Amino acid sequence: MDDCIFCKIVKGEIPSEKVYEDEHTLAFLDIKPVNIGHTLIIPKEHFKNIYETPEEIACKLIRAAKKISMAVKKELKADGINVTMNNDSAAGQVIFHTHVHVIPRLSSDGFGPWHGRRDYADGEAKEVAKKISQAL
Ligand code: AMP
Ligand code: ZN
Repeated sequence: MDDCIFCKIVKGEIPSEKVYEDEHTLAFLDIKPVNIGHTLIIPKEHFKNIYETPEEIACKLIRAAKKISMAVKKELKADGINVTMNNDSAAGQVIFHTHVHVIPRLSSDGFGPWHGRRDYADGEAKEVAKKISQAL
């Protein structure tokens, strides 16, 4: 896709600090890391988000995310790793080329866990689980 930053990185038109590459995937450092070593894994082919990404490509992204998580944890002495993906603006997606974030976490980084957890009402969890499983 011509005006996509990540497609330009794949084509070498924009520089990046590459950490991993195979036939279908590319991983490079996020330009604005949450913590040092924050890495993005993308498919070389342009897909907008998880919904459009073929299953076999999604599997390859997760395979790379595992490898990179192990390397980041070891070499950057991370206390933990978040593996995340933002899909749609409402979920924080800014670049509309599928990507997985591997974010090293430090016990001292102060970012904490998810905020705004809630409880299910009586029977609600059963209903929601049914709705999701029936849509698969
Ligand atoms: P998201 O909010 O999930 O769409 O994340 C997009 C990520 O891409 C952000 O964390 C940005 O810092 C990162 N980013 C944007 N432009 C570049 C670039 N040229 N090289 C590396 N990372 C980038
Ligand atoms: Zn793209």
